[in-house]
Amino acid sequence: SDSHFPVPICPSDVDFASHYPPQFSAPVVRFADVGCGFGGLLVALSPLFPDTLIIGMELRDKVTEYVKDRIHGLRATNPGHYTNISVVRTNSMKYIPNYFHKAQLSKMFFLFPDPHFKEKNHRRRVISLHLLDEYAYVMQLGAIIYTVTDVEELGDWMKSCLENHPLFEAVGEDDISTDPVVKLLISATEEGQKVARNGGQTFMAIYRRVPSKED
Ligand code: SAM
Repeated sequence: SDSHFPVPICPSDVDFASHYPPQFSAPVVRFADVGCGFGGLLVALSPLFPDTLIIGMELRDKVTEYVKDRIHGLRATNPGHYTNISVVRTNSMKYIPNYFHKAQLSKMFFLFPDPHFKEKNHRRRVISLHLLDEYAYVMQLGAIIYTVTDVEELGDWMKSCLENHPLFEAVGEDDISTDPVVKLLISATEEGQKVARNGGQTFMAIYRRVPSKED
């Protein structure tokens, strides 16, 4: 439960300097992979964005420890590489604003989140209109939120939440087709690889943080 992991009281209370080597003085994380699982996306993003600090957020203790070990191993065998990725154990549904300042993030990933099929469990879904308020707060204008699932109903749900939120607009097909990150959503994630092996379908919703109409 939550009592087993430390919760920072605010973003400046997070010791990000301990996550990234000293070459990144005053580290500012820009990408967050929420519910990162075993960290496949982090590892694939690292060489693509070597100057960008990326954090995975994961609720399960053992999985978080696995990702830590995986990153330490990669750093040891590839000196100077994989220094821009790390992981924290946290409940992202509760503590996103404890980790990031307003307008800090330029990408957020919600890849193959748990579906929570039953109506009464929809409030446990990591994408909801209410949680999108928090994500919009920590995202820069123009920042991109990537969502994907193999569960059609959840795909419809995430898309409709994003579509109905005033601070997000759909990214156009042209931008999606030229974004090098998009293919990684499936090819680099452990869940995406599983779905691809089984020949399953995936449902993506990719949206951009936009200013409010009143701005
Ligand atoms: N994104 C990874 C992938 O695509 O391979 C993992 C997908 S897995 C189905 C969902 C992950 O989200 C699990 O590792 C789970 O522990 C994590 N998770 C669920 N609820 C969470 C929460 N509230 N905060 C952080 N992580 C959470």
